[in-house]
Amino acid sequence: MPGTGLAQHSRFREHITGPNHPERPQRLVRIEAVLADSGLAAACSPLDISPVEMSLVERIHTRQYLDRLQQACATGMPTIDCADSVICADSFEIAQLATGSVIHAVEAVMTGRLKNAFCAVRPPGHHAERDRSMGFCLINNIAVAAQYLIDRHGLSRVLILDWDVHHGNGTQHSFEADPRVLFISLHGHPMHVYPGTGYAEERGTGDGEGFTLNLPMMPGADDAAYGQAFDDVVLPRIDEFEPEFVLLSAGFDAHRRDPLAPLSLDTESFGWMTDEVLAMARKHCDDRLVSILEGGYDLDALGECVTLHLRRFLD
Ligand SMILES: [Zn+2]
Repeated sequence: MPGTGLAQHSRFREHITGPNHPERPQRLVRIEAVLADSGLAAACSPLDISPVEMSLVERIHTRQYLDRLQQACATGMPTIDCADSVICADSFEIAQLATGSVIHAVEAVMTGRLKNAFCAVRPPGHHAERDRSMGFCLINNIAVAAQYLIDRHGLSRVLILDWDVHHGNGTQHSFEADPRVLFISLHGHPMHVYPGTGYAEERGTGDGEGFTLNLPMMPGADDAAYGQAFDDVVLPRIDEFEPEFVLLSAGFDAHRRDPLAPLSLDTESFGWMTDEVLAMARKHCDDRLVSILEGGYDLDALGECVTLHLRRFLD
């Protein structure tokens, strides 16, 4: 019976962001440790790690941006486009590996070799725009994956659920005019939390109107607030859309202990949210679900949440 895939590799730690940067290699060191100690890693099928075909990435990002990113890494630039997108010499190559492993995961699930998968990759992707880096993100992993499912597998209803506490602006902008991708994001309210987009009024454009659903959450929003948002809005909209594939931008930074945002989810919140997403994938698309790590910056909370998240995949 197809099982759960896990993408993790020591190369993803070699995207070096310097001292005091929250998006640091230690995040994956912690995840690898807790998944090994809990026996969860051994229960998963390891996913191939190889660089993504750049023609797939160019469906989402401009050639000009990708050349600029490659050049910035090669010439030793410390950042690209903004002070928080720190790069090192290997960052471009590691970003290609991260996206490549997400594509492997999607392909394995789409062809039935795996039931579902979790990609413990970095750098993260959901802020990366068509022509620029933003917010620690270089290549938009999940957007490349969604476009791949449309182009290579002919899907016409791909769900991207993004529960990272920061709005997935890059993902939204990639598909805001495309009704084949339903983008649903729960995030800290743009008046209070980076990057300042993701108002409820942003609902998509042109043919894509109604296929972008933003649920901004106020500071202090807790388990009950998220539960209500799921019950009243998120789950009914997913049922209406009937996705053929579920992609999840899994950030764990809405946790109450996270240093980057003022929301108040508990570790257990990520357990029931995972259950809801798994149930939607089961109901609509034969379990097809790939979860991709985005944020999560308190190492203890991140380790607990990822453990619970992956345990639910295997239950
Ligand atoms: Zn985030």
